[in-house]
Amino acid sequence: MEREYKKGDVLEITISDMSDEGLGIGKHDGYALFVKDTVVGDKCKVKIMKAKKNYAFAHLEEVIVPSSFRITPNCKFAKACGGCQLQAMSYEAELEFKENKVKNNLIRLGGFSEEYIESIKEPIVGMYDSDTSSYSPYRYRNKAQYPIGYDKEGNLVAGFYAGRTHDIIPNTDCFLGRKINKEILECILSFMEKEKISAYDEKTGKGLMRHVLIREGFSTGEIMVCLIVNAKSLEKEQELCEILTMEIPAIKSICINSNLKDTNVIMGDETRVLWGKETIEDELDGVRFKISARSFYQINPVQTERLYKKALEYASLTGKESVWDLYCGIGTISLFLARKAGKVYGVEIIPEAIADAKENANLNGINNAEFFVGKAEEVLPEFYEKQKSKASENNDMLHPDVIVVDPPRKGCDEKCLETMLQMEPDRIVYVSCDSATLARDLKILCAEKYELKAWQCYDQFCRTVHCETCVQLTKKRGD
Ligand code: SAH
Repeated sequence: MEREYKKGDVLEITISDMSDEGLGIGKHDGYALFVKDTVVGDKCKVKIMKAKKNYAFAHLEEVIVPSSFRITPNCKFAKACGGCQLQAMSYEAELEFKENKVKNNLIRLGGFSEEYIESIKEPIVGMYDSDTSSYSPYRYRNKAQYPIGYDKEGNLVAGFYAGRTHDIIPNTDCFLGRKINKEILECILSFMEKEKISAYDEKTGKGLMRHVLIREGFSTGEIMVCLIVNAKSLEKEQELCEILTMEIPAIKSICINSNLKDTNVIMGDETRVLWGKETIEDELDGVRFKISARSFYQINPVQTERLYKKALEYASLTGKESVWDLYCGIGTISLFLARKAGKVYGVEIIPEAIADAKENANLNGINNAEFFVGKAEEVLPEFYEKQKSKASENNDMLHPDVIVVDPPRKGCDEKCLETMLQMEPDRIVYVSCDSATLARDLKILCAEKYELKAWQCYDQFCRTVHCETCVQLTKKRGD
């Protein structure tokens, strides 16, 4: 008879996998147990806290034999903080784990054979630092958002939310962020104390300072500080700007964003420049980008540059090609491609991002990129139908040479995939932050017309469970 598992059961298991949320997964006679604070390879004793029919959440009681991948986390808040789930795992093991996860999804959900997937794999690109000839998976984030509040003793603090709660763990020096963040935050906190500026309290909706957002353009060294405040302005705001810019000269922009709503959403709609410029700039492989407080910009510029170069390589451009860049954001990939293509069309759902994309094209003197606001699954089919009806002979954008997609985690809409198949580009480059939806979409694309030629993982979000993948598909040769 099958065993029935219930709350309070204590079991011995070995952790063999990790969930998307970073929980270790181990099996007991086929029954899956999800356990926080474990590492793949740990043999441990766990206690069931919540039992379902096919799986349970369990508490780690004791590590009996630690995994050979176990390390002591750099950060003393690793366990309490919800931020990075893989701190107790060696970085080499993290890379292997991520690549395997993608590989398994391609096999299981994409329907490719293991042998084939292995034969076309390019090894995962970790956060390698050629200056030190070693991995350096910390300090990579160019953006940090610190909530401001009080600790139990009523002291003003900045830090991070503890996993699943909104209690603030005081920590002004997160290892994923820049060292300078600490100086900036301490400067703001001491000013708030001196001037009796209150922190916002989510429970009562009272108080002023909600979050501090810090962004840095790595290649320019320019820093932006944005104060997110439950008001239209702050008393003595100019004094704060003076102190901040005197202490940290790299600050080139200070903004205030008003968020008067009782909401979890960090930023409000109104942003005003208090000091300096409205945007800071960054450069990726010679392409310059203006970044405002609210614009989307990849958070790990070192790995992003490597990933985009790979996307460009997979696109195999010679200077004449027509290319679509779907889900283009502020045009980062589009502008990378435009330098080597005949013409690039970018599509993105957020109008402000498209405005940024156009401005960034101008900033770089790129005039062969055109951008459209709308859903990829609507813009592309509409374009296709319209052009087809009036299409004469050769329409470059109707049958482009390359389509690049970089969708959010839910992947591409089916209508979008369908139109891509109708457009029959020679190559498709798929950049994905979720290998399950990537695999699902590849199954559709590779059903008849396309062949998966190469894939490579890029570790953009070191120490967290997320992984980016870049894939090349080529059109099968017609009979
Ligand atoms: N390629 C960009 C952005 C990738 S993030 C970069 O590397 O910076 C994915 C983008 O897809 C986001 O900007 C999001 O706003 C956009 N998006 C989400 N759903 C979309 C849809 N249905 N159609 C077009 N764009 C969409």
